Parts: sequence; C-alpha cells; structure tokens
Amino acid sequence: NKNHSGWNLDDSYTSLPKQFYSKVNPTPVKSPELVILNIPLALSLGLNPEFLEKKEGINVLGGNHVIEDTTPIAQAYAGHQYGGFTMLGDGRAILLGEQITPKGERFDIQLKGPGETPYSRAGDGRAAIGPMLREYIISEAMHSLGIPTTRSLAVVTTGETLYRQTKQLGAILTRVASSHIRVGTFQFAAEFAADNLKALADYTLERHFPEYKSQSNPYLYLLKEVINRQAKLIAKWQLVGFIHGVMNTDNMTISGETIDYGPCAFMDIYDPKTVFSSIDRFGRYAYVNQPYVAGWNLARLADALLPILHEDRDKGIEMAQEAVSNFTEIYHGHWMRGMRNKLGIINEEGQDEPLIENLFSLMHKYKADFTNTFRALTLQELEGAEIFESSGFKEWNELWQSRLDRQQESKEKVYELMRNSNPSVIPRNHRVEAALEAASNGNYDVMKRLLSVLSNPFAYTTEQEEYTSLPTENSCDYRTFCGT
Ligand code: AMP
Ligand code: MG
Ligand code: MG
Repeated sequence: NKNHSGWNLDDSYTSLPKQFYSKVNPTPVKSPELVILNIPLALSLGLNPEFLEKKEGINVLGGNHVIEDTTPIAQAYAGHQYGGFTMLGDGRAILLGEQITPKGERFDIQLKGPGETPYSRAGDGRAAIGPMLREYIISEAMHSLGIPTTRSLAVVTTGETLYRQTKQLGAILTRVASSHIRVGTFQFAAEFAADNLKALADYTLERHFPEYKSQSNPYLYLLKEVINRQAKLIAKWQLVGFIHGVMNTDNMTISGETIDYGPCAFMDIYDPKTVFSSIDRFGRYAYVNQPYVAGWNLARLADALLPILHEDRDKGIEMAQEAVSNFTEIYHGHWMRGMRNKLGIINEEGQDEPLIENLFSLMHKYKADFTNTFRALTLQELEGAEIFESSGFKEWNELWQSRLDRQQESKEKVYELMRNSNPSVIPRNHRVEAALEAASNGNYDVMKRLLSVLSNPFAYTTEQEEYTSLPTENSCDYRTFCGT
C-alpha cells in the first residue's frame, strides 16, 4: 500500500529514569528535500520507500512532522573527550523512536541535525550537507565491508543556510542503530545513584544481551560481552585501514557498532601514525593507537559498572581488571585471524606473526598503499609499486609462498579466501571528496556511482578497478573536521 508508511515506533528508552533523556521535538525546517534514500535498508526496516519519498514521508525525515503517538527524545550521556570527562548528550540528534521491524527486531531511528536540544550548549543543533553525505557514504561502505556500524537511511536537505567556516546548506541524516547506548551512557549513569545505573544495565541486557539475564552476575557478562564486541570491531577497523578519528568514550557503543562518522577516514599509504582529524593534534587517535584507546575506554566502562559488579568493591575491582586485561588478547586473536585470512593462511604456525609484521614493515618502508597492496597480493599482480621491486619484498614473497605450500588447501582456495578478505575498493578520501564536491553543486550522480561501487567491495571487476586509483596529491596531508 503506497499510502502506508510502515512506521512502527516504540519508545522503550523512555522507561528509564528521566535523567537519561529529554523529550524534544525536531525544529521544523524551511523546505525539506530528499537527496538520497537507502531503499534496501528501508525495506529491511519494514518501511515503505515509496511513501518515504513523498512529501509526507520527507516531512518526517526532515523533522517537520512528528508521527502521532511517538515520543522524540534527546539522550543524555557523558564521556571522556580526549581524556577529559564531561557531561554531554545529543546536542544535534533526536531519537524519533525504535522501529520494530517485521521480523520483530528493534532499531533506533535518529535524526542527526534536527535543531537544538537541551544538550546543545553553544551549538545550533544543525548539520551541513557535506558531513551528512560523508557519513552516509562511509557508514554504508563499512556495512558492505562487513564491519558492524550504524546505518544511514536518508539525507534530507533543509533549504536553510548554515554559517560554518563557509556558508553551507543544512541537512539531516536519518541514522539507524541497534541502539545508541554508549560507554558514555554508563559513565553518565554512574554519576547518579546505583539505582539509575542498575536501570540502564538492566535495560541494556534486555535489549542487547537477553541471554545473560539469568547469569548469576549478568553485569559482569555485560562488561565481558562489550569487551568481546569492541575487540572484534577494532580488529576489523585495523584490517581495512579505517581510522575513526574521535574515539571518545561517548563515541563507543555497547552494541559493538561503529558510531560517529565525523573525522574518520581510510588510509591510503600505510603509516601506523596516520591521523586525519584536524583537532587530534597529539595523535591520540592515530591508527596504531586505536586498540589501546579501545582498551582504555573499556576500562572506563568497567569503572562505571563497579558499583553494581559486586557488593564488595575490592572484589568488583578484581573482576573488572581481569575482564579488561583480557581485551588485548581477544583483540589480538581477531586481528591474527583476520590477517591470516588476508594472506590466504588457513592453518596456524608459530612464525605467522613475524611474517605478517615483516610485510607491514616493508609496506611502511616503501610507502605502499594499504588496500592496493593486499589487492595486488590477491590478484598476484606484483608490479606497479616500489615495494614489489624491492629485494626485501622478493624475500618475503618466497617465505609467504612456501608458507602457503605447507598447507593442504589448493591455491584456488587460498585466493578465494583472499578475495573475500581483501576489499578491492574502500571509500578513498579523494573519491569521497569528489562526490561531495559534485553534490555541493547539486550533482548527486558522482556520489550515487561511488555508493554503488562501494556496495560491492569484494568484487574484483573492472568497475571496481577504476576506483583503486590513488590520489595525485599525498593523501597523508588530508584533513578531516568534526562538528561541522
Ligand atoms: P562528537 O565529537 O561528534 O561526538 O560531538 C560531541 C558533542 O557535541 C555531541 O554531544 C554533539 O551532540 C555535540 N555537537 C556537535 N555539533 C553540534 C551542533 N552543531 N550543535 C549542538 N551540538 C553539537
Ligand atoms: Mg559523538
Ligand atoms: Mg560527531
């Protein structure tokens, strides 16, 4: 039915104590226009794309119409931002509700850029078209790469001008997440009485980990499961050269989904120290630091949970320390499995890790492109880059080949595994910028073509190949901005 929207919004979050949120409606905008709609995602949510594309549908995505019997809220949270603790909240985001899908799953539907909330502080609660399209492109690319992430349902322009560094057109992104509960939400809860913390922990268990509710200490399981999920997530980032850029504790989810695509970017040339964010002056969130930062953030989650981990505080601390200290090993296990896959290694040998590390040393030394190096190894097209001409690489290649020969599996199997583990395309910064530049002139075709290629990153077709080209300028000089 074309007139049926499919919206089926619940508001379970409002069952939490009232400190956790503020009821607030989006501020209407001048003239909402749909720029892009994620049709497959809409369908999977049980939404009707034809309806969403109509004026009534766009009015919801633009914040001009609040669906009846729903309760839009801004969520409160806290966070360590660059190491310093602050009370925060959705300053430019409003949760419309939780969509219950035809399969009975629950997803947060949040507008990003819908106007002021009680947590906006000095901000205007708005977002510009460039960063919202950027989030759409990169989050959807992450999803196609098989990396847990919040999704992007739509971008609507507002017809209103924003004054940032330059004049920009306002826009609203509809973000979809399995929830927006963050490490920072627990830090927020821990600022109040233990009852509030318990309420949030119970809500989180019910929503994400119902199977742990019957455990003797479900809160310890909650902590351990978040550690597992984050270890897996960060390993996946490292394996594709993704740099989040602003790993503050308010930007780390309990669900294990990547969230907050502000200053993130993929690296081209491999350099462990790569930082893109213009405000990360000391490289706190550099590529190489991401696993350590994640561990640090998880220790903050453990701190927040302490009051409910055990009635004896010392015992609670002991449990928390043990859980957090396991992060490194869990992370490393995921990373090693992922790296073995990238190199077509199926069984395990003790010397696999040095073999992997030696490849990265060579990549660093010869300023090799991260993605294209693994792509070339997958295709066995070892030419066109300085690294492949080096004697160091030739030695490495012999060791690698003999390593592959020592396993049972056929070469066919090996290269199939490699093709499924090494993306042939990633959202390269220069491609994303070109798409945004065209979009700012009203041409969305460049972006749509990019989105189409990125939706199939493990295809090794000629269409993908066109998108493997490197920028002409040194992309290490690329700078990203957040909060625009
Ligand atoms: P981020 O670094 O993107 O995680 O943002 C940190 C905080 O700043 C979040 O709580 C945002 O809600 C808030 N914020 C960012 N931009 C704006 C804005 N234009 N207006 C109000 N709040 C904002
Ligand atoms: Mg954030
Ligand atoms: Mg942000």
